[in-house]
Amino acid sequence: MFIRVRFAPSPTGPLHLGSLRTALYNYLFAKKFNGSFILRLEDTDELRFNKTSLNYIINSLKWLGIEPNEGWGGYGGNYAPYEQSKRLDIYRKYLDYLLYYGFAYYAFDSLEDLYNIRLHNKDFVYNSIYRNQLNNSCNISSYKVIENLDNNIPYVVRFKTPDNLCIEINDLIKGKIIINSNILEDKIIMKSNGGFTYHFANVVDDHVMKITHVIRGEEWISSTPLHILIYQAFNWKIPNFAHLPLILNINGKGKLSKRYIDNYDFPLFPLSWNDKDTNKKYLGFKEQGYLPEAVLNFIFILGWKNIINIKNVLSLCDMCKIFDFKYINKSSVRFDLLKLKWFNKQCINLKPDKYFLNHINQELLKRNILIYNKDYICYIFSLVKNRIIFIHDLWYEIKYFFICPDKYVDDKINHLKKIYNIKDVLNYLINFFKNIKIINFTYNILRCNINDISHIINKRHHIMQILRICIIGDLRGLDIILIIVTIGKLETIKRINNYLSYCL
Ligand code: GLU
Repeated sequence: MFIRVRFAPSPTGPLHLGSLRTALYNYLFAKKFNGSFILRLEDTDELRFNKTSLNYIINSLKWLGIEPNEGWGGYGGNYAPYEQSKRLDIYRKYLDYLLYYGFAYYAFDSLEDLYNIRLHNKDFVYNSIYRNQLNNSCNISSYKVIENLDNNIPYVVRFKTPDNLCIEINDLIKGKIIINSNILEDKIIMKSNGGFTYHFANVVDDHVMKITHVIRGEEWISSTPLHILIYQAFNWKIPNFAHLPLILNINGKGKLSKRYIDNYDFPLFPLSWNDKDTNKKYLGFKEQGYLPEAVLNFIFILGWKNIINIKNVLSLCDMCKIFDFKYINKSSVRFDLLKLKWFNKQCINLKPDKYFLNHINQELLKRNILIYNKDYICYIFSLVKNRIIFIHDLWYEIKYFFICPDKYVDDKINHLKKIYNIKDVLNYLINFFKNIKIINFTYNILRCNINDISHIINKRHHIMQILRICIIGDLRGLDIILIIVTIGKLETIKRINNYLSYCL
């Protein structure tokens, strides 16, 4: 079988994590079997159509490096057009078939009629139980139907769900699921404006485009019985289905959703997105410093059973090799921010030194700091390389090797200020460093000698904390002795003096 899969986003907003995972799995499955990965634009919902999301879809896939080899967005192929809004004639033809053979019917009920029925009967579902009491072509005479159509009475076309039929889904992830058709609604397949709904267009396209495997989010599993009924009505071969588990919030409660994005301290979208409704700009994974390879690895294992314990960063090629539906969890998965950051850290670490050195050089240039040579920069970078999760952390981690603190977060040593006379301590430290010969300004000597000032401060870590505030401005960073040795005697004394003046 020649594998053909599709990623079929609706251009209604930015792609989110779940859609990215769907796209990735489709991509991997196609690549694994040398098949086709198709991009189809499901733009049947005119009301929610969002023009900005068109480029966004393509740019996101490009950023992740999982571009389709066929389909919408200039990827070519024999089944064009790949956007549903341009395929109405095709759908019309198939709709006529369903109407002609009685698999679908005209429904003339107005929204108001249906609203009133629902008001009196909360359990009302437009299906085989109520169908024959309503204003549709199953219930009214053909003469009346023609008259209605001639008089342009608004109508929709509904799929006529067969009675009491067991529909079997053999899902590649979820296994066998059986559903009785009695719980289904006669879904609208053509809207009153002549447009087609997702369900119908999706099935027709999957058939016409010879899709062999439908890999999509679990939220579509409830629509699958209807899709299967539509395939059966046409006597078409049913594709294989694989429904991917839902992604839950970090606490395991509720679906990860755009609706709660303001509560998340991580991005949900690949790239930044300006939301016109809320007038807010949401930064994407990219802008928040996540590398595409980290995002790929993270979404790859999102829902992955622990059978294969993935300890390393995988390339797309590695992922293709091990990709198998049998490794995907049936049940929902939690979003794991630590894992995402872990991947980013690993991926950052794999970057060549040049990547970081360029970044540092840019930061230095921005600040007009031109006095440091390449060896010094490389050395500094080697000290912090293993500490950074994001590239933008880099400058924050190293800036004190190049510049004096621009502010002192010294409320963190308020307790020390109560114990010691801080001015005396600083003066003492200045003299202490002044008296050390340059030749002795080494890590080991400083480390030992600094103990000697314990008569003025009796706790070694108190000295270190005060020094840290002087040198870095904060209680963070690498080993303070190492920093002092690196910045040198004069700079150390200068910074302690600076803090002394600040304290006066
Ligand atoms: N247009 C649907 C979506 O945006 C695709 C569902 C499917 O893959 O069948 O999720």
